[in-house]
Amino acid sequence: MSNLSMHNTIAHWLMVIGGVNWGLVGIGMFLGMNLNVVNLVLGGVPYAEPAVYILVGIAAVVGIFGGCKCKGCTVAPMGGAM
Ligand SMILES: [Zn+2]
Repeated sequence: MSNLSMHNTIAHWLMVIGGVNWGLVGIGMFLGMNLNVVNLVLGGVPYAEPAVYILVGIAAVVGIFGGCKCKGCTVAPMGGAM
């Protein structure tokens, strides 16, 4: 993993966390359980849970527009550091 693409790597993993978590939320609804990992881990911490959702949303928007465009990130394209 290169430090040069750190922003895009963070954005990538935030999107992965958001996507996997959403899948678990759906499965949890079928099973009548709360499988929302973000809620289970951070639900007791004020503002931490919404902060994660907002970060995931920002990461997704950044991803839609082609990832972080800072000097370091444009050298290593998004997803290349997985
Ligand atoms: Zn960057």
